[in-house]
Amino acid sequence: MSAIILAGKIYAEQLKQAAKNKINALIEKTGIHPGLTVIIVGEDPASQIYVRNKHRTCEEMGINSQIVRLPADVSKNELIKNIKMLNENKTVHGILLQLPLPQHLQKYESEILYKIAPHKDVDGFHPVNVGKLSIGEKALVPCTPFGCIKMLELANIPIDGKNAVIIGRSNIVGKPMANLLLAHNATVTICHSHTKNLPYITANADILISAVGKPGFVTADMVKPGATVIDIGINRIAPKKIVGDVDFQNVKEKAGFITPVPGGVGLLTIAMLMHNTADAAYHQLL
Ligand code: NDP
Repeated sequence: MSAIILAGKIYAEQLKQAAKNKINALIEKTGIHPGLTVIIVGEDPASQIYVRNKHRTCEEMGINSQIVRLPADVSKNELIKNIKMLNENKTVHGILLQLPLPQHLQKYESEILYKIAPHKDVDGFHPVNVGKLSIGEKALVPCTPFGCIKMLELANIPIDGKNAVIIGRSNIVGKPMANLLLAHNATVTICHSHTKNLPYITANADILISAVGKPGFVTADMVKPGATVIDIGINRIAPKKIVGDVDFQNVKEKAGFITPVPGGVGLLTIAMLMHNTADAAYHQLL
């Protein structure tokens, strides 16, 4: 039997509606709209599209959205000066630095990101938020893994006591995903490029999450019958063709639930950014 497709659009709409309710309640209580500022450095075309989408969604949500555009050759110090000004600005509750940075700034990426005040760090990348998540305290959580957990909850897919396997251990996806699943009482295995006998491990997963960045990486033989398969990968294989990590056509015949790419968890990321901005504003205003 073919898997049930978890359509990101449906869950993203539900999550955005929940965020909007939260934002409306805040505005009613304080008379203040949450503020999100996105900093974009240079002219990377994909980043321009992401920033435009974020701006549009903010407007729909009642979030005051501001974009700070800096030239591609901006110095590290100038960029940090802008971040520090936003840290001090009381009308700005969330700050997001759009990645990737231009080449000359890439080696300073962490140093620059960590200048964002933890309580305004709506991407959840600051070590204070990373630490809080790992010890089970309330934190601003990276949007993509946060969206995946919310989707599992909305779809009534049990997590407690399940075997969850994540392929990928990056700081922005794999590791926070693991901490979130652990917080929901899953038994969690994290795999990476040094993992031996990967198909054996993944074939025991009730929930299999791929965040690798390689098309066709997860094949049907790696999947337990009836498993939930979440594909976080985004791979551009032609100018207008994007696929995930999962061999969707074959895996969908074996899995119980599966997310497509496009149209899957990618859509949840912006919705969770709205949540994080609302949460950051609550924390700062109430
Ligand atoms: P990274 O490149 O930082 O991490 C990739 C991970 O995959 C690494 O941990 C790497 O292992 C692991 N890996 C690579 N090859 C293998 C292999 N042969 N076997 C097992 N593990 C392997 O990527 P990100 O985490 O940043 O992103 C992952 C994917 O998710 C990308 O396609 C990205 O575009 C997408 N993405 C999607 C988002 C969304 O909104 N939907 C948001 C963010 C990312 P090792 O650590 O050993 O190198």
